[in-house]
Amino acid sequence: MVSLHCPYCGWAFSLTGEEAAAALEEAERAHHKTYEIHCPRCRRANKVSLQQLRKGMARPAADAPAGD
Ligand SMILES: [Zn+2]
Repeated sequence: MVSLHCPYCGWAFSLTGEEAAAALEEAERAHHKTYEIHCPRCRRANKVSLQQLRKGMARPAADAPAGD
């Protein structure tokens, strides 16, 4: 989970691990260094670093099946 705090209106909200993973994938595909998340309250774009998304992802690689 990624905890966020909107700098514009002060609203605290969060992304689930799955949402963070999806956001990270999208940002990497677009070669962006940050991901913009719109505040659910004031709808302004909040920039989140990919590192922050990575940290908030559910179980990074821990659940990956053995092999490969
Ligand atoms: Zn806000």
